[in-house]
Amino acid sequence: MFVALNIYQHRIAHLHTSFTVRKSDFGEVAKRLTALTPELLNSLANHLEHEGKVSYLQPSQTNALELLQKVNTISANIPGSEASKILARNKIRSYSAFFGLPHIYLTLNPSAAHSPIFQAIFGDETVNLSSHYPTLVNAMERSLRLAKDPVAASDFFEFSIHAIFDHLFAWDFIKCESKPRGGILGHLKAWTGTVELTERGSFHGHFLIWLLGGINPSDLHTRLHGDIEFETRFFSFFENICCHSFPEVDYARNTNFEPHVQRPPDVPHNMSDKEMKEWNDDFVYEIKTCGEVLQRHFCRKVCHKYGNEGKCRFLFPHSVVEKSFFDKDSNSVVLMCQDPTVNYYNPYILVFC
Ligand SMILES: [Zn+2]
Repeated sequence: MFVALNIYQHRIAHLHTSFTVRKSDFGEVAKRLTALTPELLNSLANHLEHEGKVSYLQPSQTNALELLQKVNTISANIPGSEASKILARNKIRSYSAFFGLPHIYLTLNPSAAHSPIFQAIFGDETVNLSSHYPTLVNAMERSLRLAKDPVAASDFFEFSIHAIFDHLFAWDFIKCESKPRGGILGHLKAWTGTVELTERGSFHGHFLIWLLGGINPSDLHTRLHGDIEFETRFFSFFENICCHSFPEVDYARNTNFEPHVQRPPDVPHNMSDKEMKEWNDDFVYEIKTCGEVLQRHFCRKVCHKYGNEGKCRFLFPHSVVEKSFFDKDSNSVVLMCQDPTVNYYNPYILVFC
């Protein structure tokens, strides 16, 4: 399947690649273009693929790279091309010009390799999705399934993102607006996102979200300067949707616990106060158990990529902030961080996705 997709990508590239340059650059670019060889482009691609520094390139390689930068806006229809990234950036700029700066930056990383839903999409009819702990094939077999059927993985990703926006964020995909009842982030005004494929063949998405009622930084600073009641509401909202520590509950770490393979707890309907309290206690315990496995940051090789030797490029451990505050001198909004190695998370997304 990957081979077929590669052939498809090559075909799109051949059909949609054209060269455009400024009229004044044409003579120079044409001359430099004819000097390129497949070997030179290969050596350049190899160097960059292995994260070699641009400053270590040979002059002929630098020449080729500069040339590529001059013709990088002509393949916008090709997924993954430089031009398609420019197209995405321009879309974000257009949204920002119209809606203002986004209020939430969100990464969603649904794990196809472990998800019971992916096994069902793959065709495994033995998986009971109503069970909190469905029986699945082992991790090796699940990885093989992911490699065998990238189309099912793509369907799973689309299904997951759609479900999160539809049910948790209450976004109406038909009307392209927030549903009246709102979701866990309140009401959304607009959102946009891009999708990336990891080296292990699973998708993840980065999203920018604009909230209804959200305001631009300059207006926000003005209100935070003089309105204590607004400041309290502002921090209460963000501390509710974006946490940086786990609940303090009795907990013994189970090294075999794999939260990806379990289904979320049933949402209660018409429960008594006592049952509701029990459910809430269970929910808080789920936040702790899932969070310790999924949101606790341990520095690994990936933290030191792109020249970050001796330091974590994700800035862990974060600085401890006992209480959220607005720094009036620098106009900085600083959110509470009680645990320096916990990655920001939303409790509902953590437990239910
Ligand atoms: Zn790190």
